[in-house]
Amino acid sequence: MGTPALEIKGLEKKFRRLRALADLTFQVPQGVTCAFVGANGAGKTTTFSVIGGFLRPTKGEIFIQGVPVKPLSQAEGRVGVLPQDMRFFEERTVESQLVLFARLVGISGGTLHEEVTRVLSAVGLSEKRTEPARALSRGMRVRLGIAQALIGSPELLLLDEPLAGLDPVVRAQVKELIQELHGKVTVIVSSHELGELQTFCDYIVAIDRGHCLFSGPMEEALGAGDQFITYHLGAAPRDLQELEARISPLPAIVENETKLLVQFGTESPGRVNEKVLSWLLEKKIPILQVIHQRSLEEAYLKFVTK
Ligand code: ATP
Repeated sequence: MGTPALEIKGLEKKFRRLRALADLTFQVPQGVTCAFVGANGAGKTTTFSVIGGFLRPTKGEIFIQGVPVKPLSQAEGRVGVLPQDMRFFEERTVESQLVLFARLVGISGGTLHEEVTRVLSAVGLSEKRTEPARALSRGMRVRLGIAQALIGSPELLLLDEPLAGLDPVVRAQVKELIQELHGKVTVIVSSHELGELQTFCDYIVAIDRGHCLFSGPMEEALGAGDQFITYHLGAAPRDLQELEARISPLPAIVENETKLLVQFGTESPGRVNEKVLSWLLEKKIPILQVIHQRSLEEAYLKFVTK
């Protein structure tokens, strides 16, 4: 890969005795939408706070587009952050919030209103520009937070749990908004909604207790390790030995009553799939869904238990 959008080397952050980040090292390539995942307390928010310049690391280095970031420098406007606990001036209008923020990051004169108009339109909030923040729904607040993070066209956007607490419709809208940013800016999104992240992220960094478990393309994470096909069935399969004899020497595993996992080892997945499907049809077992990759949730659990 060329110069990464973000490179973290040996990052450590201690809060008194607690090591929230411990030799955290990973890279994120340019232009990707990166899922940043980890259990509660793994260190995601701390990492974002250190990159964004809100917390000083105890050790380690951060590079954005190959250029070192000085601790607590607020990354000189090169990073836009949507914090987990975003706060607004509730009585100020959407527009004046953004004007204030743009001034804080050093934008002034004729470009100021242009910039505010640009970010409002990018997040689809132009019609709400004269509304006070208190009148916004949770989904609109997330949009406003993203608009704020986009001010000054940062090279890197850090979104801390943008999908949390949203209903399915609004969540889909926020996802769409993040997808629209794909390729325009490198985005790193933290979330516990692994199923959602899998649908719109093309890169992943998984951390646990402050260090990196895996970083790489999403496809690699989903395909890493054992190769298998998952069948979601409408009834529990019986006489599995029969199936195993057909796909021998590969084992078929019933993970729960109606979820069947079949490894495809050295045989082509298509060939194994053909054999399994014909067996399921013969047995008149309804096939609800066939998935060729493991889910991000399964991949993540595998990283953690390794
Ligand atoms: P979650 O998914 O629950 O938001 P996270 O991955 O974002 O978790 P962090 O909030 O970064 O995790 O916390 C990492 C560790 O650092 C936790 O053990 C947390 O208790 C601790 N921690 C975070 N901020 C502070 C602080 N200001 N003072 C002391 N400890 C802190």
